[in-house]
Amino acid sequence: MSSAVRNQSPCLVEKRDSLDLPLCRECGGRCCKGSPGLWVDPERFFALFFPGQRLTVEQLRERLPELGLVLWEKTGVPMPAPRSLGSGCAFLGADGCRFPVAERPCQCLALIPVKETLDQQQGCLCRAPDEFSRDVAWQRWQNYWQAV
Ligand code: SF4
Ligand code: SF4
Repeated sequence: MSSAVRNQSPCLVEKRDSLDLPLCRECGGRCCKGSPGLWVDPERFFALFFPGQRLTVEQLRERLPELGLVLWEKTGVPMPAPRSLGSGCAFLGADGCRFPVAERPCQCLALIPVKETLDQQQGCLCRAPDEFSRDVAWQRWQNYWQAV
């Protein structure tokens, strides 16, 4: 389940100043029942899950299943993401996200809860800042793989 983070630099979770957990708890994670969030910052992803290692795409593809993650490749730029189920993100449990806060995808941490979401029968009005968009993630991962 997402928590809001407002900061100037992507993925600095320690700088979060806006956690709106009661709202997200009441919501039950509609955002997580759609498409899982992405790690926008490749350096953060590798520091969290493969510290000190410099993996190629092929090596990463082999290692992700042990973490419950998959490689999204449809856009032409491979990006790791939580596995998806018919019900949404595979990491959404009965008590919310099963990742520790510090490990959650950048997009999940950046999502800013909007209370009007709960006024709707379905759907999610909560949005992440532009610097956490899928286009930005795509560009950062492309740059990363070109440098490996
Ligand atoms: S959809 Fe919005 S309110 Fe609901 S859990 Fe996600 S961020 Fe929180
Ligand atoms: S990783 Fe956690 S916060 Fe992100 S979509 Fe999955 S369950 Fe939700």
